[in-house]
Amino acid sequence: MVKSSVLGYPRIGADREWKKALEAFWSGKLEEDAFHERLRGIRLDHLRKQREKGIGIIPVNDFSYYDHVLDTAAMFGIIPKRFAYEDGPVPLSVYYGVARGTKDAAASEMTKWFNTNYHYIVPELDGAAPAVTENKPLAAYREAKEALGIEGKPVIVGPLTFLKLSKGYRPAETDAWLDRLLPLYVQILKELESEGVQWVQFDEPILVTKLGEDDVRRLQTVYATFADAAPNVNLMLQTYFESIGNYEDVVGLPVQGIGLDFVHGLSGNLASVKKFGFPEDKALGAGVIDGRGIWKASLGDKLALLDELNELVPAERLIVQSSCSLLHVPVTAKNESKLQAELKDALAFADEKLDELVLLAKAAASGKSAIQAELAACERALQALKQSDDRNRANVQLAVAEVSAKDAVRSKPFAERYVAQQNKWNLPIFPTTTIGSFPQSADVRKARQLWRKGEWSIDRYAGFIRDQIDTWINLQEEIGIDVLVHGEFERTDMVEFFGEKLAGFAFTQYGWVQSYGSRCVKPPIIYGDVAFEGAMTVEETKYAQSKTGKPVKGMLTGPITIMNWSFVRDDIPREQIAYQLAYALRQEVEALEAAGIGMIQVDEPAVREGLPLKEEEQAAYLAWAVKAFRLTTCTVQDATQIHTHMCYCEFHDMIDSIEAMDADVISIETSRSHGELIHSFEENTYKLGIGLGVYDIHSPRVPGVEEMTGMIDRALRVLDPKLFWINPDCGLKTRGAEETVASLRNMVEATRIARAKH
Ligand code: GLN
Ligand code: ZN
Repeated sequence: MVKSSVLGYPRIGADREWKKALEAFWSGKLEEDAFHERLRGIRLDHLRKQREKGIGIIPVNDFSYYDHVLDTAAMFGIIPKRFAYEDGPVPLSVYYGVARGTKDAAASEMTKWFNTNYHYIVPELDGAAPAVTENKPLAAYREAKEALGIEGKPVIVGPLTFLKLSKGYRPAETDAWLDRLLPLYVQILKELESEGVQWVQFDEPILVTKLGEDDVRRLQTVYATFADAAPNVNLMLQTYFESIGNYEDVVGLPVQGIGLDFVHGLSGNLASVKKFGFPEDKALGAGVIDGRGIWKASLGDKLALLDELNELVPAERLIVQSSCSLLHVPVTAKNESKLQAELKDALAFADEKLDELVLLAKAAASGKSAIQAELAACERALQALKQSDDRNRANVQLAVAEVSAKDAVRSKPFAERYVAQQNKWNLPIFPTTTIGSFPQSADVRKARQLWRKGEWSIDRYAGFIRDQIDTWINLQEEIGIDVLVHGEFERTDMVEFFGEKLAGFAFTQYGWVQSYGSRCVKPPIIYGDVAFEGAMTVEETKYAQSKTGKPVKGMLTGPITIMNWSFVRDDIPREQIAYQLAYALRQEVEALEAAGIGMIQVDEPAVREGLPLKEEEQAAYLAWAVKAFRLTTCTVQDATQIHTHMCYCEFHDMIDSIEAMDADVISIETSRSHGELIHSFEENTYKLGIGLGVYDIHSPRVPGVEEMTGMIDRALRVLDPKLFWINPDCGLKTRGAEETVASLRNMVEATRIARAKH
């Protein structure tokens, strides 16, 4: 008998019931008791569904009121001092305080969960006196058993991963912290054991990153301690998102199961299993169904893979699993009614993946013939998409092959372009500009809705957008900004806007995934060859330019950002998708230039989000990401100024790549990097135009002139004044109009002071 299992199921609900419940509770519309009841209902529905589908080992405690890392911290009473928590079960007010901030205390930091778009709350260890506050995994196990008779598998963030993702301690204190946490984990585990729990899943995704000797030793301590303390419970040591580097150490641990990712870590993990074998005393959690992608699996290919594994691990020790938690995919494709059949039939969201797991387990146990019909149907669906016109745009494929075979370089080096651009634009020293968007007021959003609902004609809507542009061009001139923008009023979202205008994209109705807390995103799907179908931004930009004598920057989202914020096809390499996007966007760049727009910004805030977890793969990724940017921008004239913008994350270790993008000017978020960015510029002298954001746009506070002057002076200690620009940290679309105008006035005043000084 081959079992099937899941590592975690999406919390949000097919209709985002979970999100709605959280937000109703926060706004006071739902009482606490009713809130608990509502979440319990959602939780049990999800368990019931997995059972009905036929999943063998069903996870519990994967559900959360916000985030599973925060849950782990709360279970151990690791709550920052500023929330005045003492002991016992953490009240919801404190729990949500840590996640979202209160009027007296700032929220804990939030950061990316490995290389996904899920964000977790970073536990703060400093000052914490950890103790078990409540055994949540046990409660979840009991609930599933009592309410549904389900023998659940509690899922817990493992100690090494938890520690590594926490902050507020020095590396030298790692062992001391492990000593403090380990007995608490043991207490939780022993209680699970005495309850009769069969499997516990410890998530240790940290094992796919590079571990030092000390970490391997810690891992051995942790799992030997667990095995000693609770010998009667089966431990599944679960890894995901990549292959594990320390295979022999890991399979030597005294646990009963090892979970490996055979999708995103396929080649590495398969090679290790073949080379070193798999221990006879353990079950292999074979993560063969992609927990992060949205495509149907080729059941035939997966069965072949399982057969390969089966040669090394007997069926009774094989568990067919998703490669990671299904948290990262939407709930179900069933309700999508607007997608073309070829696409819809090839999708597998969480619920469809449950079906796939069950089918695979069945076939692995009883042979292929047991699922003959499903096998044929699945291959048919995949073939239909593969052969669809949208995936076979010969002209795109040919052109992309041709342009990407060549080096993507501007015709002149930066130094020469700089002269040509200075001659053309005659900009003052320290030119001022903004990042692109201006406030998207309620009026703007409402106008868009009226137009989308058909209540406003396209002409009326376009007229409204033009009025917004007029207002903000006038304001920018009056404030005294040097390089203007049209304001992006016609855009909801920087990826969706372009996706809707390019061929090869599709948009779901319900394809939401959790990004952080109650925030969900609905990424576009890049399912076909990407093709440019006509100018996307020329009209508004040209209109804005016609209203002013100052230069107006064209504004595009870059290929890597569009790719990293979408679900992408998995039949061609990401690199190819990036080049297709680059080639399409290049046509927009050229169209803008032909329309007389002489400065064009190509935003790439999400470059880092695609960075591979494996250090040895990072350079190659950065190289083709840089190339995609250059493909997008390299054909313009010398005097045409290419800008880019980056934000959201740390850049201090990728300045070489940023420089290699060869943008004439970059504007970059600075405030959240806590000076690290400036530090790294001290070591690497950046040789192109650069604006370090002089104020944080994430708060409605109007920054003072001196504050910005301080920022400017500090940056000018390390950067060449001739190359320095002055701008905010990021786009202003989430800000109010008044505070925006006031902040920009101060920014221009700070610039005037800087100009007088230098
Ligand atoms: N041009 C975009 C804007 O200003 C950039 C957004 C971003 O960096 N996330 O809104
Ligand atoms: Zn930004």
